[in-house]
Amino acid sequence: MEKPIEIPDKEWVNKVLDELNKAHPDAKPELDFTNPFELLIATILSAQCTDKQVNKCTPALFRDYPTAEAMSKLTEEELGKYIKPCGFFNMKAKHILSACRDIVEKFGGEVPGDREGLESLAGVGRKTASVVLSNAFNVPAIAVDTHVFRVSNRIGLANAKTVEKTEAQLMERIPEDKWSIAHHWLIFHGRRVCSSQKPKCAECTLNALCRYYKELN
Ligand code: SF4
Repeated sequence: MEKPIEIPDKEWVNKVLDELNKAHPDAKPELDFTNPFELLIATILSAQCTDKQVNKCTPALFRDYPTAEAMSKLTEEELGKYIKPCGFFNMKAKHILSACRDIVEKFGGEVPGDREGLESLAGVGRKTASVVLSNAFNVPAIAVDTHVFRVSNRIGLANAKTVEKTEAQLMERIPEDKWSIAHHWLIFHGRRVCSSQKPKCAECTLNALCRYYKELN
C-alpha cells in the first residue's frame, strides 16, 4: 500500500533544490556527445551499462560512422564489434540499426526533436526520449532512472511506487525551468551520497529536509 500522498510545499521544494545545487554544482550529463545523434546512440548504449563504459566505446564509433545514414549501412556484426563492451550488444545493435534506418527514411537523416518522433524509434522509451529532449534539444523533461526514482522518493520530492507517477509528481512540484538540471542533481546525489544500499545520511547536506532521514531518526 502506498503511503498517503504528502504534497510538499513550494518553500520546502525550493530549499531541497537549493541544497542539491550547492551539493552538486558540477552536475551535468555524463555521456559524451556533440550532437543529438551521438546522444541518442550513447543513451541507447547506456542501458544496463555505465556512462564511463559507453564513453570508451563511442569515440571510435562516431569517428567512423558520424551520421544515421553512415551507421545504418553497418551490419549487426560490424556494429557489435564497436559496442560489445556495453553489454546486450546484439539487442542494442538491432535497435540502433533500426533507429538509424528510420531516422534516414522517416526524418530526413536528422534525429527528431519531439517526443512522439523519438519514441517511435527502436530502443527509445520515455526515459531515453527525455534524456535526448532535455540535453540535446533544451526541451524541459525529467528522465526518471533508478537514481532519480530512489533519491526523489527518499527525500520526499515524490511519494510514488512507479517511475511514471514519480515523473508526474516531480513535474508538478519542480519548476519547469529546473526539470533538466534537477534530473542531473538527483543522479549525482544518488551516485555520490544517497546510494541504494548505504546512503551516507549523517554527512548528507539534505538530511534536515529529508523525509527518509526523519523517519529513521
Ligand atoms: S539524508 Fe540520507 S536518504 Fe536523505 S537524501 Fe541524504 S543520503 Fe539520501
